[in-house]
Amino acid sequence: MEDKMSGFSMRNFSTLKVKRDIYERSRQNMLDTQLIPRGINQPEVLHAMLTIPRHLFVDEALWSQAYTDHALPIGEKQTISQPYMVAFMTESLGLRGDEKVLEIGTGSGYQSAVLSMMAHKVYSIERLGKIAARSRKLLDGFMCPNVIIRVSDGTLGWPDEAPFDAIIVTAGSPVVPDALIGQLKPGGRLVIPVGEEEAQKLLRITRREDGSAETEVLGGCKFVKLIGKQGWQEAPRERFL
Ligand code: SAH
Repeated sequence: MEDKMSGFSMRNFSTLKVKRDIYERSRQNMLDTQLIPRGINQPEVLHAMLTIPRHLFVDEALWSQAYTDHALPIGEKQTISQPYMVAFMTESLGLRGDEKVLEIGTGSGYQSAVLSMMAHKVYSIERLGKIAARSRKLLDGFMCPNVIIRVSDGTLGWPDEAPFDAIIVTAGSPVVPDALIGQLKPGGRLVIPVGEEEAQKLLRITRREDGSAETEVLGGCKFVKLIGKQGWQEAPRERFL
C-alpha cells in the first residue's frame, strides 16, 4: 500500500512488530512538546517516532525517562541521542522511502529502527562488538529485516555496499571523513556532527552531480566521540578495556 501524499512505501510500517504499550501516551507527548514545537514536520518522521518503543532501547531502570528531552546512557560510556536530535537528523536526510542509507554508530539501534521505517535498506556500522550484538538482537526481535549491522570502523564507510543515497553519523568527528563523501551517490546527503570533543556543529554535505560538495551548517550539538582512522584517535588505555 502506498501513502499517496508522499509516495512512501508502507511496507516497513506493517512488518515492524510493535505491540500497544503503556508508553503510547508518552510518545504522543514527546511529539507534542519536543518535536512538533521545534519544527519537525515530516509526517513519516513523526509517525516513526510515535511508533517505535524507544524505552526498549534503554535499560529497564531508565524506561520512565525514555521519552524525556535527553540523551541517556546505554553502557560502554555511550549514549542514545535525545529524541529531538534523532528526529532532526532523520528529517535532514530528506528521505522519500526508497533509499539505501548508511548509519555510522549503531549504538542502541534506536536511530536504525527509525531509519528502517523511512528507507529501503539501512546499513549500520558499530565499533563496539558488545553494543552491536545487543542492537542486532533487539532489531531482529522487531523484525527490521532491512537493517544490517556490522562491527567495524565506520570512518572508512562500507565500500562493498557503496554508493549510498544518504549517510548519517551519530558520533562527533574532528573532521569530515573523506571516505564517507566518496561513498555518496551524486545528489546524496551526509549528515555529521563535526568539531571539538565538547561541542560540534551538525553539518549536511550534499554531493553535487559534478562531484563537488555543498556544506550547510544545521546547528550546534554534542555527541560522543567518533573513534577511528578518520575520526578521533583511540586513547591508548581504551584498547585494554
Ligand atoms: N545512533 C545511536 C547513538 C549512538 S552513540 C542511537 O540511536 O542509540 C554513538 C555510537 O557510535 C557508539 O555506540 C559508539 O561506539 C559508536 N562509534 C564511535 N566511533 C565509531 C566508529 N568509528 N565506527 C562505528 N561506530 C562508532
